[in-house]
Amino acid sequence: MAEKGFNAYHMAQTQFDNVAEKLEMDQAVRALLREPLREYHFLIPVRMDDGAFRIFKGFRVQHNDARGPCKGGIRFHPQETADTVRALAMWMTWKCAVADIPLGGGKGGVICDPHDLSMREQEALCRGWVRQIYLNVGPVQDVPAPDVMTSGQHMLWMLDEYERLSGGKYPGFITGKPVGMGGSLGRTEATGYGVIYHTREALKDIEMDISKTTAAVQGFGNVAQYLIELYNQYGGKVRSVSCWDQQEKKAFTFIKKEGVNLPMLRGITDRFGSINRTKAKDLGYEITAGEEWIDQNVDILFPAALENSITGTNVESISKQVKLIAEGANGPTTPEADTVINGRKITLIPDFLANAGGVTCSYFEQVQSNMNYFWSRDEVLGKLDEKMTMAFHAVLDLSKHRDVPLRESAYMIAISRVAEACHMRGWV
Ligand code: GLU
Repeated sequence: MAEKGFNAYHMAQTQFDNVAEKLEMDQAVRALLREPLREYHFLIPVRMDDGAFRIFKGFRVQHNDARGPCKGGIRFHPQETADTVRALAMWMTWKCAVADIPLGGGKGGVICDPHDLSMREQEALCRGWVRQIYLNVGPVQDVPAPDVMTSGQHMLWMLDEYERLSGGKYPGFITGKPVGMGGSLGRTEATGYGVIYHTREALKDIEMDISKTTAAVQGFGNVAQYLIELYNQYGGKVRSVSCWDQQEKKAFTFIKKEGVNLPMLRGITDRFGSINRTKAKDLGYEITAGEEWIDQNVDILFPAALENSITGTNVESISKQVKLIAEGANGPTTPEADTVINGRKITLIPDFLANAGGVTCSYFEQVQSNMNYFWSRDEVLGKLDEKMTMAFHAVLDLSKHRDVPLRESAYMIAISRVAEACHMRGWV
């Protein structure tokens, strides 16, 4: 997101325009879907621990709600921009549509670096975010969730502020809440596990045995950790993990040819997903530059960090061995890189399909919160697997039928569903 010249919103609009053209979509529908319906920009004053006030900038973008209330996470990141939030809100619309859940797309953000904030300051920021926007979000309007550098604790502070202001209990206001406080079992692992359900199905299609595959993972946050967990359970071996180092302000790659040990790596990782390099070295990891995550000799790449990771500049470094890329992050691959990947016949499971497990489980959380009756973890994950597998095969079938890459067929399904909802409501 920080890279000069890269604009996630322009990328999301280019992807949309290309598919709208192929679908010969009506001009009014295109105009309605290529921009957000509504967006809010606001300031959040916070009294810091030293007594001084600091003013943070917050956003909420509601891209489309024709299929249901807007849905999407809130990111805390120092390089957050309005355009990044717009792109992410748009991708949420397509994500909910391709997963076929009755929700629209939204996204929120705050420009801040939670590494530098105490828990009290983060609580004040969460409560301040809600105070500025609570009239325009809510269980029947727009439902936030965790995302980059936000967690269940942040969601609970936000819920508490919303309920104080609204004078009632509204557990459906927000998802990703802690279990026991309206959260769903399985929600924490849902995004990463979802990536692996799709990966499993894609590997069957290209006739590869998952238990004999190897992978490289970019990122070591929530999505990356849980995708490694399930991938390991299926017998897959992760050869390298790369992650951000807050002290050095750059990423490093941690390599172990015989396979990384997830519990051990977790044990030396902070809450933002940064692995301690000294301890990793002691455990026998080879440590190289962050960029090297992409040129590992493995079968699968899992970009699970941030947008703009596979670009025109580094796409050629992808090893000949790579057969599959599953995008755990939102927007990791630029259109330029996509063209090269398609040319090389590497199967790519696009972000808004690959990582739809998170929001699908959020939807299950809403359903459970509304019933005030909670399912077992197995029930949640069973339903999630079923939903993801169905979504994957619908996209795969269309991609074969139209002879287009998975990203394009996923877009076709998602955009058509949203356009249809707008038509049926009589909007266009
Ligand atoms: N932040 C996650 C995503 O990008 C989950 C969103 C949600 O659960 O609403 O898909």
